[in-house]
Amino acid sequence: MTGERTEVVVIGGGAIGLSIAFELAGRGRRVTLLERGEPGAEASAVAAGMLAPTSESEGNAASLLNFQLDSLCRYPEFTAAVSELSGLGCGYRSEGTLWVARHRDDELELEHLAALQRERGLTSRMVTAREARRLEPYVVPRAVGGLLVDGDHQIDPRRLLPALALAVEHRGVDLRRRTRVSGVFPEAGGVRIAYDTPGESGELRADIAVIAAGVWSEDGIDTPAPPLGLRPVKGQLLRLRGEPIIQRVVRTPDVYLVPRSDGELIVGASEEEQGFDAQPTAGAVFDLLRDAWEVLPGIYDLHLDEISVGFRPAVRDHLPVIGPAGAPGVFLATGHYRNGILLAPATAYWLAEAIEGGETPPLLAQLQASRLAGAG
Ligand SMILES: Cc1cc2nc3c(=O)[nH]c(=O)nc-3n(C[C@H](O)[C@H](O)[C@H](O)COP(=O)(O)OP(=O)(O)OC[C@H]3O[C@@H](n4cnc5c(N)ncnc54)[C@H](O)[C@@H]3O)c2cc1C
Repeated sequence: MTGERTEVVVIGGGAIGLSIAFELAGRGRRVTLLERGEPGAEASAVAAGMLAPTSESEGNAASLLNFQLDSLCRYPEFTAAVSELSGLGCGYRSEGTLWVARHRDDELELEHLAALQRERGLTSRMVTAREARRLEPYVVPRAVGGLLVDGDHQIDPRRLLPALALAVEHRGVDLRRRTRVSGVFPEAGGVRIAYDTPGESGELRADIAVIAAGVWSEDGIDTPAPPLGLRPVKGQLLRLRGEPIIQRVVRTPDVYLVPRSDGELIVGASEEEQGFDAQPTAGAVFDLLRDAWEVLPGIYDLHLDEISVGFRPAVRDHLPVIGPAGAPGVFLATGHYRNGILLAPATAYWLAEAIEGGETPPLLAQLQASRLAGAG
């Protein structure tokens, strides 16, 4: 084989691709990351950044919950390593989540959620209205109770992603922006990756290629992977700004509010099947503001900085796809749906284990592409 050669090519510079490049470079691999635009500019830049396996456990498969919990445990070490190399903070916070019951209906729903969490060995605690207001004084006075989840954490993706992009370069990753991959072709002794940059087309050869291009992982890239049936789940989310009015994440069954230390307050999020329509809509903004105002009336005076729209990468069972793509040397890491920020450290660690060990680690057993046979 001729031409430029490296050990690993990672395709896509979102939270998933960057974390994989970071992990593999940390294990001494020579890594090139190809990103069609700027790193961390798509779904990962829109995400609220909740690291909340307990709050989000309802309806999740056991395989996903175990993977989420594993990833949450990795977060402190992961962000410490990223911060040390980049010199930048990642906005990691561990204050937990307060679910607020606005009325008896919500309260029953939270009791149900707490029972489900208990059954799965997760920790949470029902609180009285008085305690909810003691914890978060700006919560609406007519709240009737709440559910406290101390084990949920959060990160600011708009701080994590730039820090991660810098950290991978400090680890020696060749991070190429404005480089769109058009094909991944297994061949004798490795993989050939075809790409286009604004001025030219080129090819790279590698031992291994990891396709981590979010919802575009089978869109415009010719790959040997079986059809996954990836689809975008549109999410709209608001960024408000002003004096901080909450300390921890505040949620109801309809909306979540995520505080940042710099005065930003995230209000999220819609879930829509609208294809790649990136337009914000009046209806989603109206619903988010009304639902947020019902639990935290103080948002009325905050500034509305931004309406963000992102595309969650989803397959039909809403579990991620992490592992071999069914052709020698080609791996997949996509389909992270609502959990890609939370799952980034575990995805990177366990995919690296799979690549190095040549076997599927037990935590990835249920997350293989083969389960989706016939999708597309
Ligand atoms: C509104 C909203 C709220 C969310 N909140 C949370 C949350 O609180 N917690 C959580 O854990 N998750 C959350 N998520 C989910 C999370 O954002 C995603 O699961 C995660 O960002 C997926 O990361 P990714 O790297 O796979 O994809 P992306 O971030 O979309 O990155 C994919 C990258 O691949 C690049 N690319 C695409 N095609 C090519 C190509 N041909 N060649 C080269 N590069 C290519 C793109 O430019 C992009 O940079 C939320 C998502 C949304 C939309």
